[in-house]
Amino acid sequence: MEVEQKRIIWLQGAGCTGCSISVLNSVSPTIKNLLIDEVVPGQHLSLLFHPTIMAGSGEPVIEVMLDVRKEKGPYVLVVEGAVPTAGGGFFATVGEEDGRPVTLFSRFLTLAREASAIIALGDCSSFGGIPAGRPNPTGCKGVKDILTDEKLDVPVINVSGCAPHPDWFVGTVAYLLLYGLPAPDQLDELGRPKAFYGKLVHENCPRRPYFDEGKFARDLSEEGCLYEVGCKGPFTYADCPTRKWNNGVNWVVGAGSPCLGCTEPGFPDICGPFYRKISDLEKVKPRINPR
Ligand code: SF4
Ligand code: SF4
Repeated sequence: MEVEQKRIIWLQGAGCTGCSISVLNSVSPTIKNLLIDEVVPGQHLSLLFHPTIMAGSGEPVIEVMLDVRKEKGPYVLVVEGAVPTAGGGFFATVGEEDGRPVTLFSRFLTLAREASAIIALGDCSSFGGIPAGRPNPTGCKGVKDILTDEKLDVPVINVSGCAPHPDWFVGTVAYLLLYGLPAPDQLDELGRPKAFYGKLVHENCPRRPYFDEGKFARDLSEEGCLYEVGCKGPFTYADCPTRKWNNGVNWVVGAGSPCLGCTEPGFPDICGPFYRKISDLEKVKPRINPR
């Protein structure tokens, strides 16, 4: 059977590369399975450009990145990190043209126009995240906001989180390969797959009985719900309590620390101070998640 090549271009903007590191830590499938084997029968991911892990560098890889538009067939654009827009976008550049650096902003628009879908990987790419935190001197924005500004209608799947769980990315890619673009009812209002972001952290937290009983820890070492010491689980949509991290070893509340709300728009500004209870819930809740 002929193996179909599914082309991916992966851009990195203002971020820490943590989303890539998280995906590299995928356990099932492993990154080797993802890049070398058939992710689903008859389909192979062809990762043509990834600034951190590709072996090549310089002009040849920029050519590969741009040639994806010339060759026939769809491609998916993965964007990790926010896109700086201030100062002509020169806070992030990708290669050169005629000896002059080209902004990520410009590369993103060029590639986004013809992409069959964009995966905004991580909170920075989905909503701006840490690079867009106050006072945001680089004018960082998430992918969807930029597309809206530019009046570009390209399907975007937000795989938020700081960093996102590797399963959230791998599951999203596998869905695209098997079924194509998710139907609108499979995404939440923020464009995230409900399969991973459909429930509040608070709904499945093993410390929830403490919350319901009103037994709250006053410091991180105490038994009880961590709400009073800053847990954002009641407003944060993610399946961390059931999926857990590091191949199901543990998750943040299981390790005795509050959920920081890392999958939500407005993170980190409106989720901080991290270890302090949010004082005005009703005011903050609709800003964290407008549902
Ligand atoms: S620790 Fe956090 S997520 Fe768990 S019950 Fe308390 S507030 Fe909810
Ligand atoms: S528990 Fe909260 S802070 Fe931790 S990864 Fe999940 S959503 Fe993010």
